[in-house]
Amino acid sequence: MRIPLRQMMDLGRYIRRQRKAGNHYFPLVLMLEPLHACNLACVGCGRIVEYKETIRDMMPLEDALYSAEECGAPLVSICGGEPLMYKHIAPLTRRLIEEQKRHVMICTNAILLERFVKQVPPSPYLSFNMHLDGMRETNDRVTDRKGHFDIVIKMIKMLKEKGYRVQTNTTVFRETTESELEEMIKLLTTLGIDGMLLTPGYHYQVLTNDDIYLKKDEMAQKFVKVRRMADDYKIINTPIYLDFLTGERDLSCSPWTTVTRNPQGWKGPCYLITNGHYKTFTELHQATDWEYYRTRQDFRCRDCKLHSGFEGTVALEFGQNLKDSWRMVRHYVS
Ligand code: SF4
Repeated sequence: MRIPLRQMMDLGRYIRRQRKAGNHYFPLVLMLEPLHACNLACVGCGRIVEYKETIRDMMPLEDALYSAEECGAPLVSICGGEPLMYKHIAPLTRRLIEEQKRHVMICTNAILLERFVKQVPPSPYLSFNMHLDGMRETNDRVTDRKGHFDIVIKMIKMLKEKGYRVQTNTTVFRETTESELEEMIKLLTTLGIDGMLLTPGYHYQVLTNDDIYLKKDEMAQKFVKVRRMADDYKIINTPIYLDFLTGERDLSCSPWTTVTRNPQGWKGPCYLITNGHYKTFTELHQATDWEYYRTRQDFRCRDCKLHSGFEGTVALEFGQNLKDSWRMVRHYVS
């Protein structure tokens, strides 16, 4: 299984409950950013630019826990910044799992992992999403930290030995070659990785270094190769989203499926673009015209292929088309 069965069942039950209650715009994933501070300064990171004035801010533990309750999403992705720098990361993780029964994913650059695993044992509700942007040379250039690739590989081995679920998240930039992606996927497979997510580098509204991002043709070429490899390796992008990345089909966006809460409030309308920060989850909904963003009328949506917006659409449309649904089932159980 590329995604834990328990997580898929819980997600399916939650979606059925929301539909039965007549809700259309409900979240599947909470991107919880308790801080924006980081111990790396990666190329292409929008957070450390957008929040540089408030980079030292930290969310109180009770606010972080309450935001998960407030929105009700079954999956909580704790990111940032570097979430392992958050002083309450261990109690936050434990309480989300034990008290709220959320599926928690820690999105980390791995540098502080040894300390964390002493405090939080493996659980079927816990997984790690490790930042790895290619093989040694590319990754260490993107993260601007010599030796970072070796740390990630060492930490994946340690986590697997201790029985944790581990996946990787790789941003594909213009300079990332297809042969390098293949080499990385094969290496991670030998380490027993549970899943690999590969996404195109996306252009935050606050960033200006345009030439690192894939152009349309380059994206198609690289993701045709990724889609071919997804038959044999544990790539967790859905086949429908991969078709979208290769340019063979179009999708509408569902930004309400992945909502972002950070020390400034609920960020809207999506992970990528910011119209404002709202005090409550309800205010975010009242302030956002979801249909406008669903149909990608905004100029900032024009070239966007952001994983969270479009995989949300794929999840919500599961079951509507027999052929697509069968492809998805085959993909996840293989
Ligand atoms: S298309 Fe992209 S930028 Fe527009 S709402 Fe969706 S995720 Fe945000």
